[in-house]
This record gives sequence, C-alpha cells and structure tokens, in this order.
Amino acid sequence: MSRISKTLKGPKKEEKEIPAEPAPTPSDREFLDTALRPAAWDEYVGQKNIKENLLILLTAASERSHPPEHLLFYGPPGLGKTTLAHLVARQCGAPIKVTSGAVIEKVGDLASILTNLSSGEVLFIDEIHRLNKTIEEVLYPAMESGFLDIVIGKGPSARTIQLELPAFTLVGATTRVALLSSPLRSRFSGGIFRLEYYSQDEIEEILRRSAKILGVKLEGTAVTEIAKRARSTPRTANYLLKRTRDYAQVRGRAVSVKLVREALLLLGIDEQGLSPADRKLLSLLAEKFGGGPVGLGTLAAALSEEEETIEEFHEPYLMQIGFIARTPRGRVLTARGLEHAGRRTLGI
Ligand code: ADP
Repeated sequence: MSRISKTLKGPKKEEKEIPAEPAPTPSDREFLDTALRPAAWDEYVGQKNIKENLLILLTAASERSHPPEHLLFYGPPGLGKTTLAHLVARQCGAPIKVTSGAVIEKVGDLASILTNLSSGEVLFIDEIHRLNKTIEEVLYPAMESGFLDIVIGKGPSARTIQLELPAFTLVGATTRVALLSSPLRSRFSGGIFRLEYYSQDEIEEILRRSAKILGVKLEGTAVTEIAKRARSTPRTANYLLKRTRDYAQVRGRAVSVKLVREALLLLGIDEQGLSPADRKLLSLLAEKFGGGPVGLGTLAAALSEEEETIEEFHEPYLMQIGFIARTPRGRVLTARGLEHAGRRTLGI
C-alpha cells in the first residue's frame, strides 16, 4: 500500500480492504484518494469539533517547535480518517509515511519503519488494530519515550539494545477501536477522536466540490438525490457520483434527478443507500432468523460473507439508521428494518 511497505523484508500479507458496496475498482480508489481528497482544512467538510481540537493541538505544538503528540482516529470506513492524517502532516509541514497494521508482521518491520523516519515526520498506521501484541509492546516505548528496545540473540546470551528514535508523531486509524489494547490506546496522548457520519447537507457540499473537480454538471436537485443514497459517507458519495457520471456519459444525457435514480437503480442502490448485500442481510434476519437475535458467525455463514465485512461495513450504517440493533444475544431486526425488508410480520 505504501512506500514504506515496499521496503519491508519478508513475505508481505495481502492487505484486505473493506469494500464499499459495490466495490470500487483499483482505478477508482487511486483517483478518489488523490484528486478528490481534500488538501486543505477548509476543503475538509464537517467533523467541526475534531477539526477545532486538532488545530489547537497542532498550533500549540508548532509554537513550542515540537511535533504534536500521537493521535488516533476511529470510525467506519470512508469517513475521512486517512484524509485527516494527511492534513495533520501538511499542517506540521512534515512528510508523512503511510503504512498499515496489516503489513507490519515482525518486530523487524516496525524497527525498519521507525529507524528510517526523519525528524518530525508523521507516521500514519491505518488499521492499527491489526498490529500483533509483540509489535505493540515494541511500539509503547517508541511512542512514550522515543526509544526502540531490540532484543538481540536468544537464551542466556540475549541482550537488549536501545536505539534513540527521531521525534515523530504517530497517527493511527481504525474501524475497530474496541480491538485496541488499553495500553496502546493510552499512548495516544494527543487525543482519540471518533469520526461521525455526515449530515445530508455536508454530503451535498462534498458532492458539489467533487462534481466541480470531475467537471460534472449536476442539474436541479440531482445532488440531493445522490446524497440521500450515500450512507452519510464521503467515500460512498464520491463513488456514486462517479458511477452516475459514467451513466450520463454513456447515455449521452445530463445528470438530472431522473438520471440519478436510473443510474443508481441499475447499481442496485435503493433510496436509503442500501446495497443488495445490505438488503439480503435484512431479509435473512427477517425470514430465516425470525428477526433475531442471531450471532455474527451464524449471520456471516448464512450470507457467505466475512464476519469482518459485516461488522465493519454493513452493520454500522444499518445500526445508524436504526434498521438493526446489537444486543448481548446477537443482532436483531428493528421495526424500521423489518418495514424496509418489506415484511409486515416476521413470518413466524
Ligand atoms: P477513511 O480513511 O476514514 O476510510 P478517507 O480519508 O480515505 O476515509 O476518505 C475517503 C475519501 O472521502 C477521501 O479521499 C475524500 O475524497 C473523501 N472525504 C473524506 N472525508 C471528507 C471530508 N470531510 N470532506 C470532503 N471529502 C472527504
């Protein structure tokens, strides 16, 4: 994924992306992550409280001529965690090294990353919950006191050497904050920030900016129509905009409300922004499991889907809009979810 991961030794684990639904192609991702990614704070819509807090923290650190303390961003995929990390680095006038918890497999991988940092550099570790315990333990002293303790040799002849690291800021991002050990969490002394879903107005603002960059003219209330189906998520909004643009181009038509409806219907995205996979989850809950409660493993098996994909991508939004709920005994369908699944009774 990153410049740094290419320098790591040993077999590289394939990084697993939690796809938007339907999954963006690699060229989509490339384009989204570069051209549409906000490069300045005023282009970064919403998350007002996080932005304000960060700006105070970053300004104070810069006035003290010191890199800011370590930061953690968490929340569902596509809400802008990576973008924030880049903005933090830009604000500090520092380079950023990007890597992922999934590719740091050995202590040597982390040591190579840390010892190659330049002074003041921002180290962004995406999906930081994937770091294993051994790596975490090496990371603690590095975050806390700027030292790297490495054990050389084995058994009675083993000795520890301590390397001093350049001052750096670690920015972690995760979709699964609960999986982070509490010692690791406590090392994010700069703050732990939870990103919220975006309002309809904010998504419309993001879409208008993206449409301008892409050179797409949105007629009438076409922007509202796309925003309604964007799952309150900027990445999804941009994805739907681009698919709508493709549809308009191929049909040789303008992007009107009618065209948006046609284009997104063809993708299987309904008025709530739910994909065929979301709807299948709801109808399975209603029909096969009598509305629940049902355990994640059972649900995943019935859907032929990874547990992780359900937990990280489908569930958060379905819970956000009140279609399903999580109980100690498993997932349950709510009355609203049931209505959406098109059932008046649970069929039991
Ligand atoms: P995450 O790291 O949380 O998965 P990203 O930062 O990669 O999300 O965001 C995905 C895309 O969504 C970005 O490339 C950008 O185009 C868009 N985006 C995210 N947050 C915002 C925002 N607050 N304002 C404008 N665009 C945003």
